[in-house]
Amino acid sequence: MFVFSHPEFDGHEKVLVGYDAESGLKAIIALHNTSRGPALGGCRMWAYESDEDALTDVLRLSRGMTYKSALADLPFGGGKSVILGDAKTMKSEALFRAMGRLVDSLGGRYRVAEDVGVSVADVEAMGCETDFVAGIPAGGAGDPSPATAWGVFHGIRASVAYKLGRQDLRGVRVAVQGLGAVGRALCAYLHEAGAELIVADIHEAAVRQAVDTWGAKAMDATEIHKAQTEVFAPCALGAVLNSTSVPELDCAIVAGSANNQLGKREDGAALKARGILYAPDYVINAGGIINISHETRPGRPAYDKAAAFAHVARIGETLEEIYRRAERADMPTSEAADRLAEERFEPAVRQAA
Ligand code: NAD
Repeated sequence: MFVFSHPEFDGHEKVLVGYDAESGLKAIIALHNTSRGPALGGCRMWAYESDEDALTDVLRLSRGMTYKSALADLPFGGGKSVILGDAKTMKSEALFRAMGRLVDSLGGRYRVAEDVGVSVADVEAMGCETDFVAGIPAGGAGDPSPATAWGVFHGIRASVAYKLGRQDLRGVRVAVQGLGAVGRALCAYLHEAGAELIVADIHEAAVRQAVDTWGAKAMDATEIHKAQTEVFAPCALGAVLNSTSVPELDCAIVAGSANNQLGKREDGAALKARGILYAPDYVINAGGIINISHETRPGRPAYDKAAAFAHVARIGETLEEIYRRAERADMPTSEAADRLAEERFEPAVRQAA
């Protein structure tokens, strides 16, 4: 299928296919919209079943970055890249250097960072060939997870204030699904703010640590979405909000870091119909990219953690604006977020049919 007729095309500005015979690199870089600035987005390495699947993934992901950067009010556009191949067996320095040259060929219209299957060290290898890398220690921002958790924490505070009229989190019950890099950091912030934690993870050791450290109550990973709480915070998998799970929720608010939480677009409407306030995932989990936007780079001041984290905390205000708009327009918060983002970038001029 040609790119222009692809269902996920959505007016992408540029789609670049790269091949390097020596290293075996096969990659696609997609730039969705750069009206706000150069595209910033991760590079994913995945053993796609077909080239078509890789194209679909990169187009979807790069469009998502346009919306995420716009709502976080960053001077960046949306782009993403994928390397086709098994991250467990096909990685080499030559491969990532070849990817770095491909990124460099865009002359700065795209800045690459890590994503699933690509580590910070891999991005550093790309950085041997191009200056247009982000999210590496040299920039000062480091691991994005604490910043992501800080954004989710402020998103939960704003959601609790909006929905329940409570200005602090003392005694508020939060069910955290997934105790990885973000989930653990989030639990620490919530505990310090006086919230009661209910947790689940498929790794028993992570659950035990949460019970011992924060007095959390443990629940089975398959049941935690049913916990009777004020907040359910998905911090593990995508598509956790679907036609099976939404009717089973027993919370007032869903607010967590996981990407692509809604199984389908209609699940946003189903949450609204049940009176559950949903913090759109790409808004509440933007802390990592906001932090990266503060990295030291030519023409910008040195990275300042306090300034970066203060910017991340403004996620709470963005959510409040989305909630107010959704209420006024009687639409799901997921759609109100999309509409607000679209006001903040210039859409591509669509081809006449
Ligand atoms: P991670 O891999 O460190 O942690 C994920 C955790 O979820 C692991 O502890 C894993 O054991 C657990 N898990 C997996 N399946 C589970 C299940 N069925 N039930 C309960 N727990 C389960 O990932 P992370 O960096 O903490 O990210 C968490 C989520 O947030 C992911 O969806 C990620 O895409 C998203 N996200 C992360 C960042 C970031 O800065 N790290 C930024 C934006 C979005």
